Parts: sequence; C-alpha cells; structure tokens
Amino acid sequence: MEPLTWLVLQAVLGRYEVLDVLYLYYVEGWRPYRIGRRLGLSGRTIRQMVTRVWEEVDSGLGLADYLRYYYSNLLEVEPLIVLSDDGFTCRLCGEAVLRHPERHVLERHLDLLLAVRDAVRLSRRG
Ligand SMILES: [Zn+2]
Repeated sequence: MEPLTWLVLQAVLGRYEVLDVLYLYYVEGWRPYRIGRRLGLSGRTIRQMVTRVWEEVDSGLGLADYLRYYYSNLLEVEPLIVLSDDGFTCRLCGEAVLRHPERHVLERHLDLLLAVRDAVRLSRRG
C-alpha cells in the first residue's frame, strides 16, 4: 500500500497511537523505550509498531517525509471506526466490525479512504 494511504487508513481506524509512535520514532528520532514511557507501552511494543509498517507499505523510504508533512492533518481525520460498548462499529454503515476493521474499510469504503487521503494531501498544499 502507498505510504500516505496507509497512514490515512490508520487515522480512519482511529489508531492515532500508531501515528504518534511513528512520528516520534521516524521524525523526532526518539528511542523506543522513551516513546514507550511517554505512551505507557513497552519498548517491545513500540519496536513492533515501527517495524510492522515496513511490511505493509510499498516503500517505507518516504515515510518520515509523509509523517513530517502530514502528521497534524492526519490527527484531524475523523475516525470511521469507533469503539463503543458493543465493540468496534463502522460509523458509515453501522456495521459491527470487531474482527476485521481494516478489511472492512478496504473492502467497503475504499473510495472514501482515497477521498480522505486526497483531502489530506490538499489540506497541506492549501
Ligand atoms: Zn462500514
């Protein structure tokens, strides 16, 4: 997946913590243990988060740049998947997506995801 699309997907899924971790690691250059202390996670979890992204994007080479340019815009993206008493629910179709929120967005709301990505891209230029 293209890096910016992947980052927008994390925002749409409400995974702002992933964005925080990647920003602190790849842009600010923080060590995993320091990020973990700040966010209340283990250093091991942080290391998993910063390496997992490399398996999911076409190329992680531009990742730091994307994060540097779009981080604040990404944090403004409204999550499509929200956690309620019933578990994870899609705000667009009201479907419970407890097990596969990511697949749900990619299979059912890809157009919206790409539209949000384009809006994020434009918001930076404007
Ligand atoms: Zn949905």
